[in-house]
Amino acid sequence: MGDMQIERVVIVGGGTAGWISAAALSRFLPSHLSITLIESEAIGTVGVGEATIPQIRRLNTMLGLDEDDFVRETRGTFKLGIEFSDWGHIGERYLHTFGNAGMSLANLPFHQYWLRARAEGLDASLWDYSLHQRAADTGRFGRMERVGNTSMTGLAYAFHFDSSLYAAYLRRQAEAAGVTRIEGRIGDVTLDGETGHIASVTLQDGRKVGGDLFIDCSGFRGLLIGGALGVAYEDWSHWLPCNRALAVGCARTEPLLPYTKARARTAGWQWRIPLQHRTGNGHVFCDAFMEEDEAREILLSGLDGEPTGEPASLRFTTGRRREFWYRNCVAIGLSSGFLEPLESTSIHLIQSNISRLIELFPTRDFDPVHAEEYNRLVGREYELIRDFLILHYHRTDRDDSAFWRYCRTMDVPESLKDKLALFARAGQLYRAPDDLFRETSWVQVMIGQGLIPRSYHAMADRLSSDQLERFLADIRTLITRAVDELPAHESFIRDHCLSEEQ
Ligand SMILES: Cc1cc2nc3c(=O)[nH]c(=O)nc-3n(C[C@H](O)[C@H](O)[C@H](O)COP(=O)(O)OP(=O)(O)OC[C@H]3O[C@@H](n4cnc5c(N)ncnc54)[C@H](O)[C@@H]3O)c2cc1C
Repeated sequence: MGDMQIERVVIVGGGTAGWISAAALSRFLPSHLSITLIESEAIGTVGVGEATIPQIRRLNTMLGLDEDDFVRETRGTFKLGIEFSDWGHIGERYLHTFGNAGMSLANLPFHQYWLRARAEGLDASLWDYSLHQRAADTGRFGRMERVGNTSMTGLAYAFHFDSSLYAAYLRRQAEAAGVTRIEGRIGDVTLDGETGHIASVTLQDGRKVGGDLFIDCSGFRGLLIGGALGVAYEDWSHWLPCNRALAVGCARTEPLLPYTKARARTAGWQWRIPLQHRTGNGHVFCDAFMEEDEAREILLSGLDGEPTGEPASLRFTTGRRREFWYRNCVAIGLSSGFLEPLESTSIHLIQSNISRLIELFPTRDFDPVHAEEYNRLVGREYELIRDFLILHYHRTDRDDSAFWRYCRTMDVPESLKDKLALFARAGQLYRAPDDLFRETSWVQVMIGQGLIPRSYHAMADRLSSDQLERFLADIRTLITRAVDELPAHESFIRDHCLSEEQ
């Protein structure tokens, strides 16, 4: 058995996916195993990908990174959620926070009590009971596990960071752990005549690099998985039609907000991501509904500060590889598929895929059981995130442009239809066990997009009207007190993790 162990891993690509993979594999696999990463500075990386979700904190822990050091090195900021404006209705906004609104009581989620109170005439939004919303509105941030000495959970958070600095940071970790980096452009891939497995890659200068396991982190081009092995790509753009992005930085403005902004536009949406040294911006749009010139004009006229250069233009197709692991090649990152950046899920997918690969690490005979299980798990995760993204576009009252009319009337997957119908009735939800997004995320986005259930769960009637009123008032008091004690987001950064280079 020992002689069947993988000895040489070759990672093709040095973007976020390549360096996360290298850092994780070098940390968890035996040190005698050789890990080589090949990247080409001439080709470069996508270089966007600046917003994350809280699961990245698990990755940092797994890689042994100190959080303050990581934020300092990547000139990062903290993120409590995403503010969606003009999505369900022009003029309306909501925050998809990383936390819960209110707190559950007697096993019933908070939104059920809110729905009942609303039916009795309450005129407060769900977010009036959100710790995250209050911290976001007041521009505050701090590390808080619990609210006072109650059972209410504290602030869940993620980060915004400069993705090129993140890749460089991970590269230092990985190289220190023994990963060999080769600079050069791969021109050719050789397959084994018998098994069809990848035997080696050849650089344009003639160097040949052989391996047992190849990880394709070559980005949208999918050099190995698509180019050499011919694994097809499943196109989901009929559900998620945006296929272009223009990205540009601009001067940093005050105050430093602890959240991402995502503002819906006529044929897509615009992001705003605050970093310590600049603000990242981008306009994601669908070219069937808008020309690039118009998209550029919308992006540049909506910036808070002077642009730092010309917008970079990116093209993509939302979808996934039919197989993520094929023969001795595993695609991680953009080569495996792309779910547009609305909920900042791509870096999370890299992290969850590399964790799965480590769990299901193969031997040199590449028994198909490993690939089959990996493909099943990753495919399921992709589909669940896809449904959550479609929800944002489909559940809208907007009919002011052909793009929004298409989105609101398009046919959506049955899995999403069922979820919407169940929630619309009495605010109930069934969360698939492997769904990345928890009930609280679905509730916030459904209500935020304007889907208010027709009634509420019978259990909410167990409280008298007085008890209900007191419960809601207590939550507001607790939240106000807790947030008042937090420092301003920029003060927190200054005291813990300010980058020396601004
Ligand atoms: C518009 C947009 C916004 C995004 N926003 C977010 C976000 O907010 N949050 C988030 O989590 N994700 C986001 N993403 C996704 C995120 O950018 C990617 O998941 C992440 O950058 C990983 O990319 P990658 O490493 O797979 O590919 P890339 O960054 O493209 O890297 C590919 C690597 O392969 C190398 N390579 C390719 N061909 C060859 C060759 N022939 N020889 C040698 N080397 C080669 C390149 O040199 C490079 O090093 C966004 C993506 C887009 C398009």
